Amino acid sequence: TKAIAKENTLENIIKRLHSLIVKEMGYSKVAFLLLNEKEEILEPFYIYPSHVKEKAKIPLSKGITGWVAKTGKSVIVPDVSMDKRYICLNKDIKSELCVPIKIKNKVIGVINLESKKLNDFSDLELKIFTSLASYLGIIFELYLTNQKLHYLSITDELTGLYNYRYFYDRLEQEIERAKRTEQFLTVALIDIDFFKDYNDTFGHKAGDKALYELAQIIKNNIRKSDVVARYGGDEFGLIMPNTDAYMGLRVLDRIRAKIDKYIFEKEKPSLGKLTISAGVATFPVHAKTLDELITKADSALFRPKREGRNQIRVCE
Ligand code: GH3
Ligand code: MG
Repeated sequence: TKAIAKENTLENIIKRLHSLIVKEMGYSKVAFLLLNEKEEILEPFYIYPSHVKEKAKIPLSKGITGWVAKTGKSVIVPDVSMDKRYICLNKDIKSELCVPIKIKNKVIGVINLESKKLNDFSDLELKIFTSLASYLGIIFELYLTNQKLHYLSITDELTGLYNYRYFYDRLEQEIERAKRTEQFLTVALIDIDFFKDYNDTFGHKAGDKALYELAQIIKNNIRKSDVVARYGGDEFGLIMPNTDAYMGLRVLDRIRAKIDKYIFEKEKPSLGKLTISAGVATFPVHAKTLDELITKADSALFRPKREGRNQIRVCE
């Protein structure tokens, strides 16, 4: 436990635990397998020695490992040739020990040990590996909780897009990268036109739904390397790395046209359509710093808001 506590990533913890089992405890054939529920298979995520052919994926319906994953029970098989569940991948293997890794009683994987000797595992070893597996379960749970917390801390709940905080952090990184690689970087601030009227007419709930749908339209019409975030109430921020102002304008105008055409649930032609306006600014042409870039995009957005809306403007 002490040795593992020094490691700080899941991968390093698993690697260290695995090497302790092999080097300090002297077991030569150890596999950590993870359950893939969707495909109903066990997938190796750590195996020693790594070149052995057991790297294959194991269906849940097969093998001693499959049985342990399905039942959640630990097992010692003193003679594999006498066990119908055993799938023979290596004729030298004579006995096996397998324990489930669980999170709150739910199996997430198994630790599997094999030996070339008959009857090579004792009840004490079963106990030791059962407690190692429960320790590993706790480590996994912590890791998954951390991942979830991280996801929540950078995500906007209503739209599922990144939030304002992530937008700023990422923009900072992308500006640094653009400087290093001497590429353009374009930012757009997008604001829904007359969204207050939509809310006032159809209610806040319908407004929320429209916000969500509009967010998906933006997300589905940008490149993988672009980043879109909910910037504020009815405002979105878009970061487009390696994109000049002209290209950025084209992307935004395509999104604007898509939203203009899209029929939101409550929308009736007689009541006007939901549209967007956006302001676009490019690094390093219009601004050399993050704050200046945002200010420029924001002031570019001001013009369509004064001059009819449903338009995109590039910073002057
Ligand atoms: P324009 O931007 O074209 O000047 O007019 P607007 O009516 O959109 O004005 P503004 O951007 O100032 O108002 C934003 C409105 O967006 C206010 C509020 O009704 C709505 N809004 C902001 N956040 C939310 C939200 O989370 N859910 C819903 N349903 N509406 C929101
Ligand atoms: Mg608005």
